[in-house]
Amino acid sequence: MADTVTLLIEPLPADDTATDLSATFREVDASAPALRVGELSTQRGDGIFETIGVVDGHAQETRPHLERLRNSARICELPEPNLAQWEAAIDRAVAALPSRGEFAVKLVLSRGIEHGPAPTAWLHASAAADFTAVRERGIRVVTLDRGYARDTAERAPWLLLGAKTLSYAVNMAALREAKRRGADDAIFLSSDGYVMEGPTSSVILRHGDVWSTPAPSGAILHGTTQLSLFEHLEATGRRTEYRDIPVSELERADAAWLVSSVRLAAGIVEIDGRPLAHDADETRALNDYLLSPRD
Ligand code: PLP
Repeated sequence: MADTVTLLIEPLPADDTATDLSATFREVDASAPALRVGELSTQRGDGIFETIGVVDGHAQETRPHLERLRNSARICELPEPNLAQWEAAIDRAVAALPSRGEFAVKLVLSRGIEHGPAPTAWLHASAAADFTAVRERGIRVVTLDRGYARDTAERAPWLLLGAKTLSYAVNMAALREAKRRGADDAIFLSSDGYVMEGPTSSVILRHGDVWSTPAPSGAILHGTTQLSLFEHLEATGRRTEYRDIPVSELERADAAWLVSSVRLAAGIVEIDGRPLAHDADETRALNDYLLSPRD
């Protein structure tokens, strides 16, 4: 069984239900050249992506990820993806992976070749890093100014906020800044002082018995892991809410997490150098749920 699988995909129009889907993707060697020099994803970061966790042969939350891919395409004015085609490609990749262990499947849809007729698409599945220790021990975070106000998405739609675009250089720079400050990760704040998200994760807080996350105003990505966890928390009798969260509420939280599709729930043990109580049992319970098969 291969530890990585790479498929090049010929994107179909969203309304194509006639084509044999398996004939629209082909496996390639990830270490061999596959993209053209004129490719706008590499030249300009002009494209969108999704990263789906795979646990013991099951791709987690495929539909919510594909719905978000479609939403990102709409925001970026890319052709609407054919979700059945993506689903078939994901199934093919997952079937080729070992049936035990954690993997990440990355989907990419780019604007294609400059002046070219069609978007480019590919999928790459690879082994996930081992996050066992991080899930147990938790993470230290720093808060970083994201540089725009909470309502920027409506005022400046050309910033493509809320789309999962390939332009992650800023997010990676924020992680480097966090490391420089002796932390593991970051929480972005809006310029008007509200909690937004991590560079690659969503923020969840617990005050007493109320779990909260920043309202998805369009300025942040709506996380599939956060959505799934809130459904689970509500189903097990906990109270959840979406709201605007001023930065002062971070330090008053009884517990806090960064959650995302592959690392899953990481408890926050320190914010800007101040210790925060880490609810290790609760984190374990959240990750037990996140590691169970989820659709
Ligand atoms: N916010 C940002 C900016 C992200 O990049 C991610 C994931 O990569 C998330 C939130 C969490 O999303 P998900 O839970 O769907 O992985």
